[in-house]
Amino acid sequence: MMISKKLSDAFTTQVKAEMWSSNLYLSMAIYFRLRGLRGFEHWMIKQAEEEMTHAHRMINYVVDRGGDVHIQPIDGVPAVWDSIEKVYADVYTHECKVTEMLDSLMEIAMADKDFASQDLLYVFIREQVEEEATAKEILEKIKFYDEGTIGILDRELGQRP
Ligand code: MG
Repeated sequence: MMISKKLSDAFTTQVKAEMWSSNLYLSMAIYFRLRGLRGFEHWMIKQAEEEMTHAHRMINYVVDRGGDVHIQPIDGVPAVWDSIEKVYADVYTHECKVTEMLDSLMEIAMADKDFASQDLLYVFIREQVEEEATAKEILEKIKFYDEGTIGILDRELGQRP
């Protein structure tokens, strides 16, 4: 069964969003690098890579299902934040938005009775629980550190596999 045009188009939009997310995290990585926080930088680069993997996985899936994905121009991303805390507040807000987008895709897949797409989307939606929780956890942790001790958290985040 071929994927519907509506769902295929929705995946095109989602692929664009995943690529935008990747750029957002890359921009955050640079923000941290400029401040000598190489652990935070490492965490963000891993995050950026993961988002690109999501895009590729969706592209492969849609093509396998007889659909088509058109790569869209990617909008610019922020490059400046007021504080480290603000960066992670943005990560959390952004991940919540991604969850909402995936939920909307799921609604289309359900209306289509497209079970393969639902199965794929459940994987992404389930992953969002962790994405949101991790962002929130780091955001909470940041509040316990100041400029003199942030290196401890930097070291911890630098260990992300
Ligand atoms: Mg993603």
